[in-house]
Amino acid sequence: MYLAWIADKKVDNMKIVDIAIIGAGPGGLACAIKAAELGLSYVVLEKGEKLMQGILDSYPPGKKVYPTIPKGDTGPFPVKDLTPDPGNAPVEDYLAQIETNVEKRGLAVRLNEDFQDIKKDRDGFTVVTREGHYRAANVVLAFGSNIPIDLGVYGEAKTVARKLDNPNDHIGAPTLILGGANAAADVVSTLSKAKRAADDHTPVYWGNRTENFKINKDVARDLGEEILLGGNIKILQGAIPKIGEVDEDGVDRLIIQTQEHHLGGGVELQQGMSFPMKHVIACIGTQGPSPVYDRLGLQQITCTEGVCRIGKEGHRLILLTPGFQTSIRGIYAIGGAISPAYIEIQEQGAFMEKKHSNLIFSAIKDGVRAVEDIAARRVAG
Ligand SMILES: Cc1cc2nc3c(=O)[nH]c(=O)nc-3n(C[C@H](O)[C@H](O)[C@H](O)COP(=O)(O)OP(=O)(O)OC[C@H]3O[C@@H](n4cnc5c(N)ncnc54)[C@H](O)[C@@H]3O)c2cc1C
Repeated sequence: MYLAWIADKKVDNMKIVDIAIIGAGPGGLACAIKAAELGLSYVVLEKGEKLMQGILDSYPPGKKVYPTIPKGDTGPFPVKDLTPDPGNAPVEDYLAQIETNVEKRGLAVRLNEDFQDIKKDRDGFTVVTREGHYRAANVVLAFGSNIPIDLGVYGEAKTVARKLDNPNDHIGAPTLILGGANAAADVVSTLSKAKRAADDHTPVYWGNRTENFKINKDVARDLGEEILLGGNIKILQGAIPKIGEVDEDGVDRLIIQTQEHHLGGGVELQQGMSFPMKHVIACIGTQGPSPVYDRLGLQQITCTEGVCRIGKEGHRLILLTPGFQTSIRGIYAIGGAISPAYIEIQEQGAFMEKKHSNLIFSAIKDGVRAVEDIAARRVAG
């Protein structure tokens, strides 16, 4: 069984901890290690099934992990247990090293906890995940730079897969792939191929919000070949996800609108389809964390010509103290979530754009610094 202490759900969620850390990447784990060293209570909430899910999802297999130190910094890495091998060992080795060290230290990481919201209350914050609530005096946002674009549906049920984990999970079941670009097209042809190999004739539906699909030549060739070889691919142009509901049998379902006719007088005739969510894969891309910061009410500054050197015009940069505290006291942001730049509030209230390299080193260093800041504020009362 994978890390028994992680799977244990019998934790008193409502007991207030000093720090709730969102994300078990290098930044979040550095926070946890530093918090444990300083005697602060904490919990790490990771939406994935594994530690370092962000790296697991984004690095190609066998990729060498470089222990790069950003320009202007001298190192060394502040947390030995999280330092990539100086010989640039592959990502699989790095992940195994992290898993061993986290287990050895018995860090309090809760997997499959997808962070949704923070609510401020009298003695701190309530962190809301899809699965429950956690109470904390401080929150560190260490969720990296790739925030999945929301499906934007109404209703209770919202969790759909973002990639094709195992094609066999969809054999024998019609499956809906959402998205109009290469990632979705890849999943459509891979799944169709797997279904043909298993002599499964159930369709792969490919739905996109607009009429146009934007895919490159190579991906289009693979898809065309798949259709010619007999793949049962059905294209749904103008397919709009509408509602996530739990049906009378307790099954999470996604309802998409496939057609809409205006009948006049404000009356619309809508047609749709409903799929069990476990057979929906939404390849609809990722975005930076700016919309999440907006939702949480964290102050950002919009780059205009002359103000930013690193951030592009129109980009919004989060406002942070030198200890990575945001405009809401007790909420911190670190690592990939503040790259490639943020605005530092300096002494005397001056604002200064700071370059922030999206590197493992930077995430770890930020995590340590943020927790030191929390510890110092706690002492100061
Ligand atoms: C292809 C690739 C290669 C790279 N190679 C290198 C390299 O060789 N050396 C190097 O130094 N850097 C490299 N980087 C950059 C490095 O991976 C990042 O700088 C680093 O992972 C940032 O750490 P982080 O903890 O801030 O974020 P992440 O590593 O992204 O971790 C964030 C974690 O938060 C979780 N999360 C996200 N949303 C939620 C939510 N709502 N609720 C709960 N959890 C959530 C994610 O699942 C993830 O596990 C590479 C990046 C990429 C994409």
